[in-house]
Amino acid sequence: MPWRYAAHETPDPYAIWLSEMMLQQTTVTTVRDYFTRFRERWPRIDDLAAATLDDVLHAWQGLGYYNRAHNLYKCAQIIVKEYGGKFPKTAEELIKLPGIGPYASASIAAIAFNQPALVIDGNVERVLSRLYRLNFPPKRDRDILLEKLDQLKDAKRHGDFAQSMMELGSEICKPKKPDCTNCPVNSYCAAFAQGDVLSFPLREPKKKRPQKYATAYIITNDRDEILLRKRPNKGLLKGLVEVPTSDWSLTPEKIKSPGLLDKTVRHVFTHFDLDVQIVKLHDNTPSHLQHGAFFVNKNDLQHQALPTLVKKILRAGMKSA
Ligand code: SF4
Repeated sequence: MPWRYAAHETPDPYAIWLSEMMLQQTTVTTVRDYFTRFRERWPRIDDLAAATLDDVLHAWQGLGYYNRAHNLYKCAQIIVKEYGGKFPKTAEELIKLPGIGPYASASIAAIAFNQPALVIDGNVERVLSRLYRLNFPPKRDRDILLEKLDQLKDAKRHGDFAQSMMELGSEICKPKKPDCTNCPVNSYCAAFAQGDVLSFPLREPKKKRPQKYATAYIITNDRDEILLRKRPNKGLLKGLVEVPTSDWSLTPEKIKSPGLLDKTVRHVFTHFDLDVQIVKLHDNTPSHLQHGAFFVNKNDLQHQALPTLVKKILRAGMKSA
């Protein structure tokens, strides 16, 4: 992983912070290229702080959960303006910064500064659940997990311990196919001894996800342009660019328009699913222009900070006549 460092190297807090922000809710495979591109474009935190928010959002395009990009940018500015470009070293200080929660603060403190912080991510939850056959879903009682981790920790090598626990989970103690025979801690593992490894971790019962609906308008003009607008600077997908849509509601809107396409785009957000019907219109002076919308040439769409949802809508709309 490009954010890892060799034993003889000093960890770079900027690289570790950047990787932690990107890895929240995203896989290592997806993050790898984004991380490398960000580092090439903004090698140091000062460079990132000097960028524009639009540039950062544009570079973040496709990673999803755009709040992270806003927080990344805000945090870079605070580190440069208030901390002289140097990250604070303790989890207690780090957690005060935008976008850095309990997990990331502990992780950055342990890995970048070898601070005695205990790091729990999904991999660590799984390893601990199996090692101790924990009889509750791991998110339900973080204190017990911290207590177990505290008993296991290395007294000096906090960063190495944090990384080994996480990688034991990602490389060996995998969710569906744990390699127990080759696991370095199998002689201490209660689930392995009992032969019921796959019964752990225990899961929370699933809640039904709300379903929302929207109508998106793909409006083109004679100059081969598409109508776009910027989302408000707060809420979901804040500050990003989209095609005009109706409000997102719990009941589908009944539309009678010759431009209504016979296809629906489905998108999954963290807390709800969204089904979008698409209306395609040709209009040189649409009324949507009054609400701060603007036309962009189809060939220049790649320069806009479009979230994945909007790309899906445009792809579906463009394919249709
Ligand atoms: Fe995970 Fe198996 Fe190792 Fe136990 S023995 S920690 S279940 S890989």
